[in-house]
Amino acid sequence: MGDPLVVVAGAGGFIGGHLVAALRAKGRQVRAVDIKPLGEWYQVFDDVENVVADLKLREESRRVCAGAGEVYQLAADMGGMGFIEHHKALCMLSVLTNTHMLMGAVDAGASRFFYSSSACVYAADKQVSADVAPLKESDAYPAMAEDGYGWEKLFSERMCRHFREDFGLPTRMARYHNVYGPHGTWEGGREKAPAAICRKVIHAKHTKDPTIEIWGDGNQTRSFMYIDDCIHGTQAIAKSDILEPINLGSSELVTVNQLVSIVEEIAGIKLKRSYNLSAPKGVNGRNSDNTMIQRELGWEPSIRLRDGMERTYRWIHDEYMRKYGD
Ligand code: NAD
Repeated sequence: MGDPLVVVAGAGGFIGGHLVAALRAKGRQVRAVDIKPLGEWYQVFDDVENVVADLKLREESRRVCAGAGEVYQLAADMGGMGFIEHHKALCMLSVLTNTHMLMGAVDAGASRFFYSSSACVYAADKQVSADVAPLKESDAYPAMAEDGYGWEKLFSERMCRHFREDFGLPTRMARYHNVYGPHGTWEGGREKAPAAICRKVIHAKHTKDPTIEIWGDGNQTRSFMYIDDCIHGTQAIAKSDILEPINLGSSELVTVNQLVSIVEEIAGIKLKRSYNLSAPKGVNGRNSDNTMIQRELGWEPSIRLRDGMERTYRWIHDEYMRKYGD
């Protein structure tokens, strides 16, 4: 018997597209699934099975899970702070997708179910200062997650736990901290800070407008994980015996101002910064404590922000010029 079929849900999106690329490169048999029409997928591979389906529907989840040995559940209605602060109900509706994919995986007798959770599950009172202590896995409780999106992620983590305990489905969960890289959302309202800043700098350069708008005062701190680290960690966690949700993020902490400076340096430009204090900016500080992943896997994300941003900037630059260049 060959390797079991791998189902990737959310394959038309950023992380899902890269995961399909990595799995097919290993010769795995992949079924890639997304709600978007195929023409809107960020990456499409003709040599895998591509399925368009709304996984909020139970029958569709069951259909795409049929025959699956492994399921990677990455499908979610999500975006950066600008999206999740204004679409809390939409974010919470992803509970239907998570529920039905778990049920579909049980019906299929899958031997592995990976769930992409988020650092947004962490309690807000642990993230009030920019000079933040890195978040360790136990900091999610007592719970006070990011409203809407974070609560749904925390609930779905617990569903994964109980599907394992009660129905014997081997679930694994990673809490992603800000992932960035090529082939992601870079405009339209769902983009996250690294892509948004690249686009704004490219736009400023292209239109010769010397200003850049920054959400918040720019002193909020974050860590950002390059997509290659995310894909490596995702597969390692899926394969592992780690039963509890585990951080998958970089621990290289920067302020948003420092991130802007990195992009300016890559672009070879210096812009005048205008701070929009009423824009959504999220928590004041967030970083990933990587003690657990180091202990369990002997590995942690290590691609330097400067290197990852260089590659991301080049890709967004090409996309921008293809669309707006003359
Ligand atoms: P993305 O938006 O690029 O991809 C998600 C995909 O899910 C989209 O292509 C979307 O069309 C699809 N989808 C949404 N609803 C669906 C449905 N009902 N049926 C089928 N497909 C559906 O996002 P991403 O950055 O690739 O994120 C992947 C996963 O990782 C998500 O669960 C997200 O919450 C989680 N995550 C991402 C980050 C990050 O920084 N990108 C951080 C934390 C957690």
